[in-house]
Amino acid sequence: MRYFPIFFDLDGRDVLIAGGGEKALQKLRLLAKTTARLRIVAEDVSADIAAAGIPTLEIARRSFVDSDLDGVALVFAASDDASLDARVAAAARARGLPVNVVDGPGESNFIMPAIVDRDPIIVAIGSEGAAPILAREIKAKIESWLPARFGRVAQRAQALRSRVQGAIADPVVRRRTWEALLQGLWRNAVLADDADTAERELSRQLDAARAQAQPVGSVALIGCGPGEPDLITLKAQQHLQAADVLVVDRLVNPAILEYARRDAIRIDVGKEPEGDSALQEDINRILVREALKGQRVARLKGGDAFVFGRAAEEMAAVRAAGVPVQVVPGITAAHACAASVGLPVTLRTKVRQFAVVTGASADGPVDLDWPALAQPGQAFAIYMGVRTAQHFRDKLLSAGAAPQTPVVIVENGTLASERGVATELASLAQAVTEAGIRGPAVIFVGLDWASAGLSRPDKVEVYGMHRAREGEPAKAGVAAAHAGQGRAPRW
Ligand code: SAH
Repeated sequence: MRYFPIFFDLDGRDVLIAGGGEKALQKLRLLAKTTARLRIVAEDVSADIAAAGIPTLEIARRSFVDSDLDGVALVFAASDDASLDARVAAAARARGLPVNVVDGPGESNFIMPAIVDRDPIIVAIGSEGAAPILAREIKAKIESWLPARFGRVAQRAQALRSRVQGAIADPVVRRRTWEALLQGLWRNAVLADDADTAERELSRQLDAARAQAQPVGSVALIGCGPGEPDLITLKAQQHLQAADVLVVDRLVNPAILEYARRDAIRIDVGKEPEGDSALQEDINRILVREALKGQRVARLKGGDAFVFGRAAEEMAAVRAAGVPVQVVPGITAAHACAASVGLPVTLRTKVRQFAVVTGASADGPVDLDWPALAQPGQAFAIYMGVRTAQHFRDKLLSAGAAPQTPVVIVENGTLASERGVATELASLAQAVTEAGIRGPAVIFVGLDWASAGLSRPDKVEVYGMHRAREGEPAKAGVAAAHAGQGRAPRW
């Protein structure tokens, strides 16, 4: 390590920028975030600098003289004139001052890192000049990883220091409480600008600490999206990173667990789509048990927790135990599957209603408002409907739906194993069987590409009459490939 990273106190100190153009302006913008007094010296000072509105800025419109360095703590040579920059740098070095020549690391005795600013949390990244592009890439990653309001958490924590100190004498209990605050619900409430929840959580943690009890844990019900790991929200990622215990559903892609801490405890509670309620009660019990131990519990669910996710039952159980619970939205399967095959779910003037319905029910065949679903202009997505496709077809046709109503099925949406199938209502059940749809799938009814003025993606297989009408038996993508395997549509 040749360059040693340090944080330099500029409060009330003088900083000189020699230069009046774009380079100087860039440095000025950065330095204006500090509480330093800034000085510019240059013969030509751009209008942008004059208009930058920095109250502590003094501008001297003349050429640089050595005495400009009197009383200065830090120097930037940022003119567009290399010989002037060299002169400023030499004069500064002669006085033992730290000087940075913009684009001139050889003449500088310090260099500027890439900065992620979440004041008062500052991340500085350097590559000793070897690979600034890599440093910028790391900066971009950290930028997206640290919520924009992250600094506020540190500011609020600072403001609370004496209150926490006064409330908890024991340093070990105090540290545990800080961990509970800074990695749990309090921090999330501050990030969400929810002052009431933050205050309530703070009092709760202080009460628990005074009683020398374990800090109370919390539960986050997290929608983890349809499978593809990039399709989770930044907020979900933050919760995963903070969690002590992960309670994981069957449909959550294991790759998503990479976002969690390695030492987090993982509990799999895989459930079949029509899973029995005893199992659900077990899950509720696990959530409560872990949270009451003081753990931050992340309950990972496929898609969105509030869409056919039984989140309400879990929320109620957790709340009843006096444990705070938060919900983090996720991308639900219907939206992800529609996006993946480029199928709009509403269309101006044509499709004005889009519903999500379940195909599975704990007590026998699912009963829905069939006449409403059969209306023209009504589109819907069936979840958990693979096994009941025949039932849907029959009920919708008897309720007056047109046999040629378009149907699109997306299986394992967003995963490498994704398959898309296009057919029509009359052939729905047959298409499911013929195409061999077995994995989790969303069945869209009343949506197609043609009505949207789009063409069907090649990767989507075509089954049923649709295929005959399109007159493209040999071009039906995977359907054609299946022909040789005896799985071609037979109607
Ligand atoms: N809460 C989830 C749904 C859970 S119900 C969500 O919002 O997406 C389970 C059903 O979701 C499956 O039977 C299937 O219909 C659908 N599903 C989940 N992941 C899917 C995926 N990757 N591709 C297609 N359908 C999926």
